[in-house]
Amino acid sequence: MLRTHNCGTLNITNINLQVTLSGWVQKTRDLGGMTFVDLRDRYGITQLAFNMDVNADLCTAARKLGREFVIQINGKVIERSSKNKNIPTGDIEIEVSKLTVLNSSKTPPFTIENETDGGDEIRMKYRYLDIRRNPIKESLMLRHQVSKATRDYLDEQGFIEVETPYLIKSTPEGARDFVVPSRMNEKQFYALPQSPQTFKQLLMVGGIDKYYQIVKCFRDEDLRADRQPEFTQIDCEMSFIEQEDVLNTFEGLTRHILNEVKGVKLNEFPRITYDEAMKLYGSDKPDIRFDMKFIEMTEVCQGKDFMLFDSAEIVVAINAKGCADYTRKQLDSLVNFIKTPQIGGTGLIYCKYNQDGTSKSTVDKIFDEDARDAWAEKAGCKKGDLLLIMAGEIDKTRKALGALRLHLAEELGLRNPEVFAPLWVLDFPLLEWDEDTERYHAMHHPFTSPKPEDIAKLDTDPAAVRANAYDLVINGNEIGGGSIRIHDKTLQQLMFKHLGFTEEQAKEQFGFLMEAFEYGAPPHGGVAFGFDRLCAIMGGQESIRDFIAFPKNNAGRDVMIDSPSDIDEIQLNELNIKLKD
Ligand code: ASP
Repeated sequence: MLRTHNCGTLNITNINLQVTLSGWVQKTRDLGGMTFVDLRDRYGITQLAFNMDVNADLCTAARKLGREFVIQINGKVIERSSKNKNIPTGDIEIEVSKLTVLNSSKTPPFTIENETDGGDEIRMKYRYLDIRRNPIKESLMLRHQVSKATRDYLDEQGFIEVETPYLIKSTPEGARDFVVPSRMNEKQFYALPQSPQTFKQLLMVGGIDKYYQIVKCFRDEDLRADRQPEFTQIDCEMSFIEQEDVLNTFEGLTRHILNEVKGVKLNEFPRITYDEAMKLYGSDKPDIRFDMKFIEMTEVCQGKDFMLFDSAEIVVAINAKGCADYTRKQLDSLVNFIKTPQIGGTGLIYCKYNQDGTSKSTVDKIFDEDARDAWAEKAGCKKGDLLLIMAGEIDKTRKALGALRLHLAEELGLRNPEVFAPLWVLDFPLLEWDEDTERYHAMHHPFTSPKPEDIAKLDTDPAAVRANAYDLVINGNEIGGGSIRIHDKTLQQLMFKHLGFTEEQAKEQFGFLMEAFEYGAPPHGGVAFGFDRLCAIMGGQESIRDFIAFPKNNAGRDVMIDSPSDIDEIQLNELNIKLKD
């Protein structure tokens, strides 16, 4: 047996026990007469003690152990004289009687400690060493717990896990596909799925009325920060249901996961419409861990001969509670923030409501005390508050103020990662205008059903058509999205038409689905959760990268295996691919 126990379990109740342990050498400390070795495995660290007076050879051998050597020891559990209260094994150590080196190790390129000296790139290159570190190991363990809790809950609810293919057909809708050349079908290509969307709908036609899958998805997008070209979804679909059923089932799933993994009990999730979300937070994924809702100020601000306000479609504000004592420097930094190109705001008007009852704004010459009091009344500002106002085009202004709201909340420490604030955003628009192609795109995907009462507007006012589509948002992150689908062939054809598909194009790309709809497709709908993101949020982290065992870097490269890479001439020939120089 290579071990009788792991390195995280032995404690004071095991005194005098003879044990065999195996693991990695974290550290050796040579104190002259005594040598101590910290032995590490997945479960923890146990201290090994070697006494020069008792066994000089063994102690000498222990001194020679390098970091990350793999060793096995036999010995007796004894009580430590100086205890370490920070670790579960801290009351004991092992008096070693036999030491076997199972494998040596080169000196690792960075320290295998919680706080490592290794930079991002080097840690990615030696990811297997990074995984030995607690923060990464714990993230992977958390991921496992989330996936187990998911499977337990969905199984309990009668869902079955069905795998769908990874080699599918390319469609131009949505993001760019990763494609795979087919050797046996000359000059033809598979595509890797961006999601199992059409397959799960076909499973519904197949009568599998509750499907789920924890599944890899692939999207060849320009990599923005914290996106991975391959990522994982908890993908689900149900038949004979309405939106309400989907929301309840997946609110239940979210509650179950948070309770199982974090011990957090959540109340019923608030629900707001997409329109309300944009109006109150300037975002379709609002962070509601804190309040700071938008206040529309157009009426109280316009008509005073102030161009910025009078020419604006909207004047909108947030009340930064208790921030009237912001210094000039702090205020300037807010102004600079909204002027950065990503935010694209033009200007910020602010008004301080001081503790002494006076108020001071950047536009005092135009807006006298009475006007400022009217603002305060409208925005609910009390003594000590700071009112921040923006004006301009509706969408842009709301978006910029939404960014400012998050920025301020960050500064004020209102975005505590240990607090979880989920909500549903409902009634998304069905279509979204795309400036580049000058046509409407499906905001969710082309299989999403419009609200029946809005179908008539498809011809007259497409942008106003609402969809039976919903998102689950937690702490300002879109965690899941889904919809009630179209299950009627004629309506699906109508949708394709509105999305600019000719009949031939629709048939060529989605003929199989339309045909399936002719064989008794049940009403159905579903949702998919971003599994990596859910794990990251539960782990209190901004980035998904450490919740993926072997992630790609920002350029979409796996720097450990050095991929993507060239392939040789023979392979290219087999695939009928000629590379341009
Ligand atoms: N397939 C969709 C997505 O990947 C989710 C869904 O509608 O169920 O976003």
